[in-house]
Amino acid sequence: MKSYAIATIPGDGIGKEVVPAGARVLQTLAHNSGRFRVELEEFGWGGDWYRAHGVMMPPDGLDALRGKDAILFGSAGDPRIPDHITLWGLRLKICQGFDQYANVRPTRILPGIHSPLKRCAAKDLDWVIVRENTEGEYAGVGGRAHQGHAIEVATDVSIMTRAGVQRILRFAFQLARSRPRKQLTVVTKSNAQRHAMVMWDEVALQVSNDFPDVRWDKELVDAMTARMVNRPTSIDTVVATNLHADILSDLAAALAGSLGLAPTGNIDPERRYPSMFEPIHGSAFDIMGKGLANPIGTFWSCVMLLEHLGETDAARTLMAAIESVTADRSLHTGDLGGTATTQQVTDAVIERIQRPAVARAAA
Ligand code: NAD
Ligand code: MN
Repeated sequence: MKSYAIATIPGDGIGKEVVPAGARVLQTLAHNSGRFRVELEEFGWGGDWYRAHGVMMPPDGLDALRGKDAILFGSAGDPRIPDHITLWGLRLKICQGFDQYANVRPTRILPGIHSPLKRCAAKDLDWVIVRENTEGEYAGVGGRAHQGHAIEVATDVSIMTRAGVQRILRFAFQLARSRPRKQLTVVTKSNAQRHAMVMWDEVALQVSNDFPDVRWDKELVDAMTARMVNRPTSIDTVVATNLHADILSDLAAALAGSLGLAPTGNIDPERRYPSMFEPIHGSAFDIMGKGLANPIGTFWSCVMLLEHLGETDAARTLMAAIESVTADRSLHTGDLGGTATTQQVTDAVIERIQRPAVARAAA
């Protein structure tokens, strides 16, 4: 029987609630499949680790993860530690350390979920946003001088390499090609950012020559926000820079009903390193520790994790269980206007996974 080594990193806040729920779901799926096993190892890195050791993860932490088949991540962010320390000390360290350059963010309106897009039916919204995940605006290049003085200066320099732009655009064209509509929107801002984004546009045109079967267009990022709201059906696959896609994908998650539902994968397409899957939401300080977090974004991330491992049957079973649960309004958490708890939603998903396949199909 196949066995997958999976690292779980709950991190901070509601990450500590939704990741254990995701781990339970993965164990159940493996057990039920009779085809594969999952060996989970939990790493207690994050804010608590920082208080004890002065760092978010051990210096050799990447080595502990290197041999894993995948990583399930929660959130990095602690109310008592500055956000740039928690983010750079853990999540970005893993994304950049393992060159997970493609951040893939699917958006759909799940059954039973109310979208703020009034003119949009559930079937109309099926997007995948591809975010460049290792450079650009979040390259980490910059600095501060004259700190605390009137002449203080600070820079965050956006770095775009031709190789980095090429590989993310190539990945996006390939993903667009694999989807039914074979359609890609390249998001840009080359009117105002006249160097790197102009190169981004040039590379897009060059790469597109290798994908004559993919229809593609270009949209300025500000116009893209309006298009997502006003003409959602005109969008299928989207590719954008690190910062642009960060913002667009939160908008996408809100349009699909809630930040608590949205999943993502930080992918190393070359499979040199483990890829990392996580809900897109953060630590949710306002509800942490109360058992109220919506675990669906984590479960959908587990679907992506299973697809990445090639366990497509288990992935399909889990997605069907998720959709059956969201369709039942009595199982909606607070972010969706309901009163269900993390535990109730998790138990319901597990119950549906355990139903015999025939009953599942009929349900
Ligand atoms: P957030 O996603 O934590 O919360 C935004 C709002 O959405 C809150 O009202 C929260 O209660 C709600 N929400 C989010 N996920 C939910 C869920 N699963 N169920 C129910 N409600 C949910 O964003 P924020 O407030 O901007 O950030 C809080 C902290 O998280 C910060 O420290 C930030 O840096 C960090 N953060 C980390 C990541 C990450 O590790 N990937 C991502 C975003 C934010
Ligand atoms: Mn974000």
